[in-house]
Formats: sequence, structure tokens, C-alpha cells
Amino acid sequence: MVLLLFGPPGSGKGTQAGKISNWLGIPAISTGDMLREEIKAGTALGNAAQSIMASGGLVGDDLVNRMLAHRVSAPDSAHGFLLDGYPRTVEQAEFLDRLLEKNQFQTPVVLHLDVPMDALVGRLTSRRQCPTCKRIYNLLQLPPRNPGVCDDDGTPLITRKDDTEEVVTERIRTYDEVTRPVLAYYQDRQYHQIRGDRSPSYIFEEITGILDPLVSKNGASCCVKRNGAK
Ligand code: ADP
Repeated sequence: MVLLLFGPPGSGKGTQAGKISNWLGIPAISTGDMLREEIKAGTALGNAAQSIMASGGLVGDDLVNRMLAHRVSAPDSAHGFLLDGYPRTVEQAEFLDRLLEKNQFQTPVVLHLDVPMDALVGRLTSRRQCPTCKRIYNLLQLPPRNPGVCDDDGTPLITRKDDTEEVVTERIRTYDEVTRPVLAYYQDRQYHQIRGDRSPSYIFEEITGILDPLVSKNGASCCVKRNGAK
């Protein structure tokens, strides 16, 4: 099964991606996380992406498409994967369609987390992330048990460089102008809109309710870990 998780910055995509990935046993692939790893490693791609990400714009389609194609060719993606933050432009959506067809994947299931725009800036500026396991916290709604450190591995949490109010505002503008129109591309596919202004566990229940019948129908491998899922 191929899942696409859409939603504005701060809609909770990363949190749900982790839960869905655990539940279905498929990798959650975040192009944002991959680009941040490239920056950390000082690669040519990372150097090209750094200033664009710092300003809240989008990295070029060619670079991101190539990175994504390479990632989904890894063995762990052979039985499906979830994409968080990709596609973000119509060109990326068209590229993905060709890629899925070439690799004989089924048509993707689209989950759109919809959150009112006025809630997003506060959510993002209070967001913290574990740089080791990538788990996401929110100082207002989902704080770690011990202030400043990850519940799972004790790593000190970080604030993403692009979670300042100025850059957040630009990322939301980019989403509205460039990425929101991509949703129209998927309207006649398996498209599900989900209200993202509720608790993460409630949203996850709704997502499992949507995916359960599809998982059984497709016979996709699903490690039935629902009760224990994080
Ligand atoms: P968010 O969804 O919260 O904005 P991400 O981690 O998904 O955060 O993305 C961070 C940044 O990485 C984006 O603002 C953009 O600059 C870059 N990026 C991530 N995915 C893509 C993509 N598919 N196409 C172009 N740029 C991307």
C-alpha cells in the first residue's frame, strides 16, 4: 500500500506518519527529514537545499524527485510506504505517478490532515523534535515527560531552524499557493479528508478506520499492533 500524507506545516503529519508506520509495518518517508540529513552530512544536495529550507521555500523538483526515487527503490519499501511531505507540487505528483506505475505499485491512498490556518503558527513555534528518533513533541499539547529530553531515548530535544515565526509564516504561504492545488490532482482518487484539529490519538483512530478495510482487501502485511502502537 502506498499512502500520501498531506497537510499544512504543523498539521501533525509527522506524528501520524510515525503511528501509521508502526501499525502497518511500512516505512514512513519524510522528504523534509531526508533533506535535513543531507544538510547535516554536508552533501551537494544538502548544500543546495539549505538556504531554500531556511527561507521556507521549496527545494527544486528535480532534486527532490531524484532523492525520492532512490529512497523508494530500497528493499524496505518493496511492500509499500508512506510519504510525508511529498508530493508538494503538481510536477512531483506527476513524477510519482510515473514512478509508481513503473514499479507496479497500486494507486496511492491520500490522507489529507486539514487544520485551520490560525492554529498553525502557535503549534509550530512550540514544536520540538528528537534528533535521534525524530519523534515530535509540542510544549503545549504533547510535552515530553522530562522537560527537554526525548521520552524514548533521552536525547536532548531540538527546535527546528525553520520553526521561527517568520519562516513558519512563509512555509504556510508556500503550502497555500503551491501545495494546496496538488490536492485537486488527487480528488478523483482514494482521497480522504481528516480534521486535524483534534487529539493525535483520535485522529489516528479515524485513520485506522479508513485504512482497515483497504488493508484487509489488499491483503497488505499489517502487524496488528493497534493497542500497543505508539
Ligand atoms: P513541514 O511540512 O512542517 O513544512 P517538512 O519537514 O516536510 O516540514 O519540510 C521542511 C522543508 O523541506 C520545506 O519547507 C521545504 O523547504 C523542504 N521540502 C520537504 N519536502 C519537500 C518537497 N517534497 N519538495 C520540495 N521541498 C521540500
